[in-house]
Amino acid sequence: MIFPKQRYQCIQCGKSCGQWRIWVEPGLVPTLREHPLALRLQVAGQPYLVEREGGWHHLGYDAQGRCFFLEGERRCGLHSSTGWLSKPRACRQFPFFLLETPEGTQVGLSFRCSAVQQNVGVDWEQHRSDLEQLVGTGSYRRVGFEAAAWGRSRLEWDDYLDWETSWREQLLLGRPLREIFFLHLVAHLGLQLAEPDFARLVRNWSVSALALLQTSLTLAEPGSDGDSIRYFEHVLERKWLWLGENLLGRMLLLLVGEQLYWSALASGHNAFDLVEGEWLGHREDLGPVEEGLANTLLQFLVF
Ligand code: SF4
Repeated sequence: MIFPKQRYQCIQCGKSCGQWRIWVEPGLVPTLREHPLALRLQVAGQPYLVEREGGWHHLGYDAQGRCFFLEGERRCGLHSSTGWLSKPRACRQFPFFLLETPEGTQVGLSFRCSAVQQNVGVDWEQHRSDLEQLVGTGSYRRVGFEAAAWGRSRLEWDDYLDWETSWREQLLLGRPLREIFFLHLVAHLGLQLAEPDFARLVRNWSVSALALLQTSLTLAEPGSDGDSIRYFEHVLERKWLWLGENLLGRMLLLLVGEQLYWSALASGHNAFDLVEGEWLGHREDLGPVEEGLANTLLQFLVF
């Protein structure tokens, strides 16, 4: 188990208990139906479980979008009455991202979580048994066991780890990712673009991303502060770059994420919610965008 630098301990803000559709694994459905709290909700006419096509179920929410199992302001009734294991797997797993790597299970965290955003938490040993339970009963993406697509060539895991170390060191020095990746692409991919042209390209992509996200934010230039360093370093640490079809495309998606982060911040929005929730951490449909960005940049290579 490879624990991250980032800290975490749930502060029961309730944010992850209603804003998303939470699917319930089939094996847990009968158990939930027989749960004492469920019987009470049933009598009160509250649809705590909603059946969808194919026999799948997700948790039901009230008119305010709150899970029916929430008690009081923000306490999970399932967790407090019958323990962590009685919650759906999706609830138990959030905010962890788990990946199998050649070095062991990499633990990552979602910056949608309020506790992660605030970096509050306990020693990782206190999460170990929960994480081992999740790892022992589920299967997770495997990364680094085979070379990955990198532009027009392939990249070995060990080389990637060296790059990641260097990028993280430069982030800690306060350099924006756009600057770090630009120099890297020139040196390792033969990118033949001047820095201002590369910056213009990333800005154009970011304007398109803002339109895609249907936000009215004004584009702002990337910078560096404690929170941005903590976030983007963690995105690298949790091996996010390795999860797409082409590492180059993912690097470019991340640069757009950086620009979105600063745009949200400049407009007084929660930058983590926007970038993590709607761009980097919880979207599954950006594959074509990633491919399009990579193909655009490949036109500017000399190698
Ligand atoms: S968002 Fe994080 S802190 Fe808030 S309830 Fe969910 S896990 Fe807990």
